[in-house]
Amino acid sequence: MQKLIYADNAATTPLSENALAAMQPYLTTEFGNPSALYGPGRRARRAVEQARDDIAACLGAEPEEIAFTACGTESDNWAIKGIARCQAENGKKHIITSAFEHHAVLHACKALAHYGFHVTYLPVSAEGYVSPQELEAAITENTALVSIMFANNELGTVQPIEKLADVCKKHGVPFHSDAVQAAGHLPIDVHRQNIGLLSLSAHKFGGPKGTGVLYIRRNLHPSPLMDGGAQEQGRRGGTENIAGIVGMAAALKGRTASLEADAARVSALRDRLESGLLFAVPGCHRNGGDSRLPGHLNLRFDGIEGESLLLMLDQAGICASSGSACTAGSIDPSHVLQAIGLSKEQARSSLRLSLGVQNTEADVERLLQVIPEVVSKLRSFQPFAK
Ligand code: PLP
Repeated sequence: MQKLIYADNAATTPLSENALAAMQPYLTTEFGNPSALYGPGRRARRAVEQARDDIAACLGAEPEEIAFTACGTESDNWAIKGIARCQAENGKKHIITSAFEHHAVLHACKALAHYGFHVTYLPVSAEGYVSPQELEAAITENTALVSIMFANNELGTVQPIEKLADVCKKHGVPFHSDAVQAAGHLPIDVHRQNIGLLSLSAHKFGGPKGTGVLYIRRNLHPSPLMDGGAQEQGRRGGTENIAGIVGMAAALKGRTASLEADAARVSALRDRLESGLLFAVPGCHRNGGDSRLPGHLNLRFDGIEGESLLLMLDQAGICASSGSACTAGSIDPSHVLQAIGLSKEQARSSLRLSLGVQNTEADVERLLQVIPEVVSKLRSFQPFAK
């Protein structure tokens, strides 16, 4: 049977071996509730707090600034709605975000618009970057929060986070960044980078699905999204997902230790794939600029329908994406690609390949063999396509 080539690491990643090993006891014998005072409960509490320490160390944060959540979507919603609610008490009801955020951010902002918040969507350059100057021009005395992603999930473009954060600091506005795609792939130091709130999701860096983090700088107090027990310093009720939290910490620690070496290896594979495809396929163009996540490659193929390309790649045992996984199934062309100025047709002809630490040179060679064949076959079905 043909080997599966998984080139959709921006959608999710396989569980790393160290995460699985760390989780195993908490899925079997160590089932105590960390709020319980007896032995198994105390051991579970120690595991959660050790994971908090480890994650804080990876992000340049203090342990008490780390709050556990159920996913990146929850972290984004909590940061945005939680800060918005507090700031509304001071009469501040203006939020700034960008046009190409993940729907977890865009839809959280849209929900706030129903409650009288005014939302500014900053434009994105043709290369896929948000401008610190445009951010500064958009800030008013009523701005409650700025939320700009660390790296875009479709293009992989890494934003000028420190400059954006400096603008917010200068104006005294809390700055949130969705780092779901960046964490475990790029160096992050929340204190040095002046980030107020940061969202993470374990399954994007070799951790389990259904576990996330919201980093909350000590001076910020977003109101809780989940009212309940006293867990997470009373900020997020609900019995902790111990196995998930422990697995997430192990995965992040492992990735952080080999960050530079992994980035060098994965970006070399990605660059080989990119130059090979641009050379072999006529009418193939790259979407997005050079400053990108190591594994991301977003291409468009003139005259090709992305969904058909995906289906044919699937038949050849290749997993890729034509947009973000969270919008797959919807036939709307990607809002991200439209935000950088592509037409609906160009957006529909795009393919995202995202490599990860488990990909090999042999995977790239196979992608370089199959993708040109499939594109040429699809074009032969539509002889009048460009
Ligand atoms: N933010 C970004 C940039 C993402 O890429 C994703 C998932 O694709 C999310 C948020 C949502 O994360 P989760 O799947 O953990 O809810």
